[in-house]
Amino acid sequence: MLVLGLETSCDETGLGLYHSDRGLLGHTLHSQVGLHAPHGGVVPELASRDHLRRTVPLLRELLDQTGTGLSQLDGIAYTAGPGLIGALLVGSSIGRSLAFALGIPAVGVHHMEAHLLSPLLDPASRPHFPFLALLVSGGHTLLVQVDGLGQYTILGESVDDAAGEAFDKTAKLLGLPYPGGPALAALAQDGRSDRFTLPRPMTAKPGLDFSFSGLKTQVRLLIEAHPQPQHRADIARAFEDAVVDTLLIKCRRALAQTGLGALVVAGGVSANRHLRTALDSAAASDGFAVHYPPPELCTDNGAMVAFAGCLRLQAGERAPSDCGARARWPLAELTAASRTGVL
Ligand code: ATP
Ligand code: MG
Ligand code: FE
Repeated sequence: MLVLGLETSCDETGLGLYHSDRGLLGHTLHSQVGLHAPHGGVVPELASRDHLRRTVPLLRELLDQTGTGLSQLDGIAYTAGPGLIGALLVGSSIGRSLAFALGIPAVGVHHMEAHLLSPLLDPASRPHFPFLALLVSGGHTLLVQVDGLGQYTILGESVDDAAGEAFDKTAKLLGLPYPGGPALAALAQDGRSDRFTLPRPMTAKPGLDFSFSGLKTQVRLLIEAHPQPQHRADIARAFEDAVVDTLLIKCRRALAQTGLGALVVAGGVSANRHLRTALDSAAASDGFAVHYPPPELCTDNGAMVAFAGCLRLQAGERAPSDCGARARWPLAELTAASRTGVL
């Protein structure tokens, strides 16, 4: 089964082609970072208009690149939510119209399910169900027990800022350009771990929830106490150490609590090198397996949507007849795939 995936939930227009036997054939991506940078954040109306401008040219590029004709497609998957409603409607309208014109099924994909499944894209290193998933993106921080496709139990989540959001807001405090996560990580590379220590929020008490908003205040106080530019890298390092260590503590706790032996990490922050090093060494010493998406597929992309959509289509699902886009859509509301064994 050959599936086209369309991702337009926020500020990346992403298209991907996934074949159930041959794997990922290719993907194309346009990031709107340059469009939104002067505004310091994503402007929803600009995002929708740009998705509309970019989707068809990116589709042509993907078909050319992979030598695929539209007539070879067996299904189309689009991100149906959660996200910016205008942006979602662009992908869902294009995806559903194209599917209708080609006489093939369309399916709406949950953006966080697509992130969650992205480390399973490579059949050579795919973990088996059940496993633990740590989703760390711009809008979510979730620890999920994954028992099967669509069988998700939320074990913990952020009570305030998401991990990626905390990176972005802290980067702004440090004077780094939007979007700040990768820039902060780069600055932290030059910093020393032993200069400043920040708290590991919500780790002293039991439980699997997270809170990252307090770290911003701590960083602000550090900047005020040490305003000289030479301290910036050490402050960035202290912030990154605190987030990474907190995520590690909660992952270990969740693995111990559930008895699960594999951890899947996805979402933009899973590209963070320091986080990967910390999780890899914990995996080696504690004896669990850890899986990530390839670095370029950690942030939003169409490949993960094509893959999740392919699994959902193989399980017999189809898009409902309404517009099929939802700005808010809790992951826990997803239903188990009606047919099992597609993975
Ligand atoms: P959601 O998926 O929750 O709707 P989103 O789609 O905006 O949110 P992603 O695209 O998964 O989020 O990830 C973007 C986030 O990842 C941003 O907050 C960005 O700063 C962060 N990020 C990307 N690379 C890194 C990195 N190397 N280190 C830390 N954070 C990073
Ligand atoms: Mg983005
Ligand atoms: Fe995302």
